[in-house]
Amino acid sequence: MKFRCPICKKPVKLGDSDFPFCGERCRILDLGAWSAEEYRVSSSASPPEEEEPSDED
Ligand SMILES: [Zn+2]
Repeated sequence: MKFRCPICKKPVKLGDSDFPFCGERCRILDLGAWSAEEYRVSSSASPPEEEEPSDED
């Protein structure tokens, strides 16, 4: 059975530490997605796009 990250749709492995996300980044993005909807923060913060982190993971 295959699982996919709900954020970026990359295949993820069951048992991964960030499951069901492919990594911490997507886990945080998902968290940000619902909290943004909850609080409707629209100023200053730009939407989480495909930004490459500078080698931090
Ligand atoms: Zn992902």
